[in-house]
This record gives sequence, structure tokens and C-alpha cells, in this order.
Amino acid sequence: MWTPVTEKVDASLTRWEKLHPTLEARCQILQITVGSMSQYLTQVNEMPPAVFNHLLKAMREFMWGGKSPPINFETLTAPRDKGGKNLLDLKARNDALHLMKLKSYLDLDPSTRAEWCYLLDRRLAKRVTNDSRAAPEALINTFLQSWRADEREWPKRHKSMMRSAKKFGISFDVLAATTEVLSDLPIWHHHGENPHMPQTNNSPACYCLRGQHGVIRTGDGLTRLRRLDNPTHKKNKNCKCVDCDQDRRNLGCANPHACAIAVEKKLSRLMPKWDPRTNPAPLDADDAESEDEDPSSFPPVRPTSAISEGFRILTCLSETLPSLGPSLPSEDEAPQPSQAFFTKGITIRDRDGNTRAAGGLWYDDHDERNTALLLPIHLRQTARTAELAAALHGVQSAPRNQDLIIYYSQKSIRSEILQKLDTREASGWIGAQDSSLLRALAAALRGRTGKTTFVAQDSSQARKTGKAGAVALARQGARKREAAEINPFVDPEHNLRGVQLSTLTQKLAYRGIKQARKIAPRMATTNNVKEVTQATFRNFGFSPTEAEFWSSIRHKDFSRQVKNFLYKSAHSAHRIGAFWKHIPECEERGICCRKYGVSTRPQPAHQCGRDSIILTCRKYGVSTRLQVLVRYPECNNISRRTYPQPAHQCGRD
Ligand SMILES: [Zn+2]
Ligand SMILES: [Zn+2]
Ligand SMILES: [Zn+2]
Ligand SMILES: [Zn+2]
Repeated sequence: MWTPVTEKVDASLTRWEKLHPTLEARCQILQITVGSMSQYLTQVNEMPPAVFNHLLKAMREFMWGGKSPPINFETLTAPRDKGGKNLLDLKARNDALHLMKLKSYLDLDPSTRAEWCYLLDRRLAKRVTNDSRAAPEALINTFLQSWRADEREWPKRHKSMMRSAKKFGISFDVLAATTEVLSDLPIWHHHGENPHMPQTNNSPACYCLRGQHGVIRTGDGLTRLRRLDNPTHKKNKNCKCVDCDQDRRNLGCANPHACAIAVEKKLSRLMPKWDPRTNPAPLDADDAESEDEDPSSFPPVRPTSAISEGFRILTCLSETLPSLGPSLPSEDEAPQPSQAFFTKGITIRDRDGNTRAAGGLWYDDHDERNTALLLPIHLRQTARTAELAAALHGVQSAPRNQDLIIYYSQKSIRSEILQKLDTREASGWIGAQDSSLLRALAAALRGRTGKTTFVAQDSSQARKTGKAGAVALARQGARKREAAEINPFVDPEHNLRGVQLSTLTQKLAYRGIKQARKIAPRMATTNNVKEVTQATFRNFGFSPTEAEFWSSIRHKDFSRQVKNFLYKSAHSAHRIGAFWKHIPECEERGICCRKYGVSTRPQPAHQCGRDSIILTCRKYGVSTRLQVLVRYPECNNISRRTYPQPAHQCGRD
């Protein structure tokens, strides 16, 4: 079945090879050949290991035109701003397709669910493991309940999907759900059972409930409970109340009271958010409330309204969160007067030429809570990040029941929190900037009982002092020597891990899988980037970030050849620099200095090893960060003026 595909791929790669494409083009060609040609069949039928290996080998060979690879394959699959070429990652693509299949399988809506999904439900239920201690009639879906199917017995056709589900941490969780959803969840082997309480799924009453009363979902159990509030109901097996009488006669239940008590116990062992009795959020009441809700205040959690929306995947992406919460002010139930604060973030250049961000949090003149913070280096150094850190600090240190007004400076803070939060959370924050802080802020806001309102800082007289105060504090933060301790604590109760499966796209899955795998950067590359960064600072007075480095070497002013050369150099895939250090009698080739004169034009083949290449562009200046230098950071004789820029098109340098 796969032979036509592999043959077609091989043939078209041979045809492309004749055109001697560039590295860049080869990446794109692999995407449209290997990627596209194998997509359909992988979706329908799993890709056998032999085919996978064949395609991978073909990709490797094509990438380097049959020569031995100077840069390894994994490096090339990294995103561009991490030094990769976004090359097709076949394994991740296949895994992404498995997750898309899982999405169909876990679409529980009967109007759209495919027949094979029901078949798989039944087949997995037949292979329930012994330690799940589950009765056959209690089994609905292994991912919706806490029972497991024996891995060795997973149906062959669905094995990869099942494996990917496990590998990428499928789970079921909601922040809140509608009563309909809560009542529709299986009552047996429920995910939301309190792990600290003993679970019963197999007592005689449980069997009676399933067999006689047909209680499968929590909602079925609710109707059993009504009698407990009925004054004519007696708490024994011979009760003659209407409900008990019917159960005995119509259903053949021997002890209706015991069955009702069993349901009660079962539901009370669920954690509160899963108990359909304690959830007070009927849908229509919610709608009425939102009508007159203040659009600038943080909204209550939108309850999940379909079971399928509760499945989360790629939960491994969210596991690096710190486990300890900040010391919150004591839960003071006394009413609090509302509090306002102003936030501001700025960026500066530090003495080493690095961009540093600092934030200010202003309450009032001489208020001891006023905070000036220098952002730690592991966070993105932007004004927004710093302002978020300041806001987070303010929210974390306010009593939970206090009404807060946050006067923000950057508009996007408001839109991230008030408008984009649901979307970001559904997509697992993949690709979102400042996700750790935003996530922490959202969780902290959800944990508050007081209202939080976001108001823009405008130039009105009333807000002038606050605005200036926050700026002054941010400047003060920038002068600090030690970075502030930011605690991006995320309370698990107010956070969803991973990505919402029901809205997953293949593209997002692919990105998430690659992100989860975290390819370790090559040592040589990391060192090169570091050296160039330092040399850039020495020569030009600023230090580019890693992303800036990678984007600068593919600047549009460079010819294709130069781009290719720079890229390979950055990965030490050329015989320049340190390469010569280990070759007898050629050591000096690796050392660049004036003796050899002005650097010549960049040579893609670069055998001589004598050239240092510095390309600067005065026209674009520092702002576009076109200044790029590759290699020879040990040479301190480099200056901007002495080097002509042969590669430059503009002619103004
Ligand atoms: Zn009764
Ligand atoms: Zn019964
Ligand atoms: Zn030199
Ligand atoms: Zn130029």
C-alpha cells in the first residue's frame, strides 16, 4: 500500500536534485514531497516503521545532496529564531496526525461521532486491566474514566493513536462545567473522585444501581436521591414511600434505601467542581448576568458546555511550573476598601549593551507597597513583560476579597487578560509571548473573590500622579543591581494544563509536539552565538538576542550565497575558525588578524580560513540590527570603518 508513495517521493526528489537547490529550498521541497505525499495515507493508515525509516533516509540524503551532513537533522527542524530551518519533522508530523485522530475519537457528540469510535470503545472495554477493578457495564470510555485498557491488547489499527494519547498526557479537566455536562459524566470510575477517599464501584449496591436502576451517569444517580428529602421516606430497606415502592416493584431492587445512600456517597466523594449537586451555574442565569457585566472587569470562568471540550492533550507542556505558591496575605474575610495601583514597564540598555526591562508598581506617594523591580534575565526583556510582572506582584499581594483597579499602561495587557484568555488557554499558550506571567496572572485573578477592573492610564489630571509614579519606580528598578524575584505561581485549581483537544489543529499539534520535545541546541552553535554576541558588543556596542542573531543572518540584503554561508558558519559547518586549531601546521589559519588584511568577500566554500566577515549597514543602522559578524571574536582589531562590505547591495556602507 505504501510502495506507490515511497516511489513517488524518491522519483520527485531525484528530479529536484538535478536543479541543485539551496539549503533553504531543499527544506521547502521536502515539505511538499515527503510531507504532503505521505499525509493522506498516514491519516488513514498508520505509517509502518519501515516506511518511516525509508522516508527519513531519503530526506537526509536529499538535504545534503548525498554528502555527509555538516549540520545534523534535528537542528534543522528547529524554528528559525532558534537557528533551525523549520525543516519537516516527520516524527512530529506523524504524531500530530495521531492526535488529530484522537480528537475524532474523543468527539463524543453522537451526531458527529464516527462508527469506528464506538467500536473502539467496546474493544478497549473488553481489554480492561485487572487492576482497574471495573465491571463491564460500568465502562464507557477509557479517557473519560479512570480505568485502563491493557496496552498489549490495544487494537493494532489504533495503537499509534493510543500511544500518542498516553505519551502526550491526555487528561480530562475543566475549571467549571455546566450542570448538563456534570450530570452527563460517567458516575463510575469518575476522574474527579477525591483521591484521598476510598472508592466504591463494586459493592452490591453498585451492581444493583447499574443492573437494576440503570445508573451509568451522575445524572442518573440524582433521581435516586430525591427520596432522601421526602418526609415519608424511612431510612431502611422496607420503606414504603412512592419512590422506594416503585423501585422494588418495577426494578426488582431489594434495598432501595441502600441504593440511594450509595449514590449519595458516590457523589459526595467527588471533588466539589465535579458534583452536579453543588454546581450552581445554570446556563440561562449566566447569560442574564453577563448582559450588564462591566466589560473592563475580569469575568468569571465560562463553564465548559460539552464533555468533549474537557479533554486536554500535550499536558507535558505545562509541567515546569513552580510548585510553591507565594505567601499570600491571610484570607481576611473582613470587607476591604477597594484598592487601585498603576503599573509600568520600561526597557533600557545596560552597561554590557544588553536590553533590560524593569517595572514599576505604584499605589500612592510614599506608600510602602510601591515596588520597583528589575526583571530577571530568564524572562523576555520587554516593557510589557516588566509591566506584567509588576501587575502580577500587585495582584498576588492584595487580599483576595479586595476590589482591585489596575491602571495599566500597555493595552495588550488588558486584551490578553480580558479577551484572549480563553483562546490562549485552549491552545495551551503555544507560541504566546509572556505565557508564564499571563498564566500566573490569570490564575491569581481567578482565585480572587473581589472584583478586578482594568482601566487605561490616560492623561487626565486624576491619573497623572499615578502614571508618573509608576514610571519613576520603573526607572528606579532599572538602576537596581539585583533582579527581582518573580513568582509565576499557578494555582492548579485555577489553571488548565496542555491544549484543548476539541479545538486542536494539526498545525498546533505539530508545534506543540516539537516544543515538548525540546531539541538540545548544539554546543558548537551555542558557543558561536555567544561569541558573536560578545564581539558585536565590543564592536558595535549592543548585544543581540538569540532570535535577533538568527534573523539578522538572513537579512534580505544578503545574497543567497552569503545567507547560506553565514548559516553554516554559525553552526560551525564550515572549515573556518576553531576548525583549524586541531590541524597541524594550519593553526594560524584559524586566527584572524590585520596581517591578512581586510576581509575579502565571503566565500561560500571558504577553504582558506583567513576571512573574518563583518557586514554592517549604516543605512538601516542599529535598529534593524543588520550588523552581523560571524567568527573571530578573538580579534579585537575589527572596526566598523576598516571593513568594506562586499555583499552589500545598497553601496552606502
Ligand atoms: Zn423510601
Ligand atoms: Zn437497588
Ligand atoms: Zn583580524
Ligand atoms: Zn546596506
